[in-house]
Amino acid sequence: MVPGTRLLILGKQGAGKGTQAVRLARHYAIPHISTGDMFRAAVRSGSEFGRKARKFMDAGELVPDDVVIGLVQERLRENDARYRGFILDGFPRTVLQAEALDDMLPDPGIELVLDLEVPTDIVLRRLASRRVCVECGTNYSLENPPTDPETCDVCGGKVVQREDDTVSAIRRRLELYEEQTAPLIAWYMKKDKLVTVDGVGHPDKVNERLIRAIDRRLRRGVEA
Ligand SMILES: [Zn+2]
Repeated sequence: MVPGTRLLILGKQGAGKGTQAVRLARHYAIPHISTGDMFRAAVRSGSEFGRKARKFMDAGELVPDDVVIGLVQERLRENDARYRGFILDGFPRTVLQAEALDDMLPDPGIELVLDLEVPTDIVLRRLASRRVCVECGTNYSLENPPTDPETCDVCGGKVVQREDDTVSAIRRRLELYEEQTAPLIAWYMKKDKLVTVDGVGHPDKVNERLIRAIDRRLRRGVEA
C-alpha cells in the first residue's frame, strides 16, 4: 500500500459499509471520512457550510450538491487527508459529485472504489429485524433481542421497530439507492477504478476480502 491512498466505499444500507470503512481506516492508518459524521460535526461547529447545510436539514430538504461538495472539499484540505489519503464513505452519490471530487484531488483522483455487494433479500432481512429502544437508543435485532423482547436491558424503555424499518419502506430506500448509484458505478467501471467485493458473511471474512482486493489492485498499479 502506497501512502496517500485515496479509497472510496459504496454499498447499500445494511451492507455493513460503515463498519468495514472504520476497519479499513484502522488497517491502513488513513482517516475515515463519512459525510454523515461530517454533516453532524459541521453543524455542531457552526462553520459556513455547516450553517448552510443546517438550513436545508431543518427545512427537511436534501442538502444541495454545492453545499455537500463544499463540505467535503473543506475536509479533504486537512493535513491528514492530504498526506495520508482517506477512505470516503457516503460521498459521492452522483456522477456530478464524483467529477467534483476528482477536481479536488491530485491525479489520478480516487484510486480505488470498493463496491460492497450484498443481495437485496439479505439486507432486507437484516434491516427488517432491527429493533431499537425508544428511550436510550440501544440497538437490538430479532436474532439478538433483549431478555424481554419488548423491554430494554439497559434502561427498561420500550423496544420497538423504527417506523422507517418496515419492509416496504426499506425496499423503497434500497430501490432509490440502486437507481441513484447505478450511473456512478458505471462511471467508475469505465475508468477501471471499481472493484466489487462480496459483502456476505462474517465481518472478519468480509474485511479480509476487502484488504486482499485493495492490496492486489494497488500493487498492480505500482508495478504498472
Ligand atoms: Zn434503553
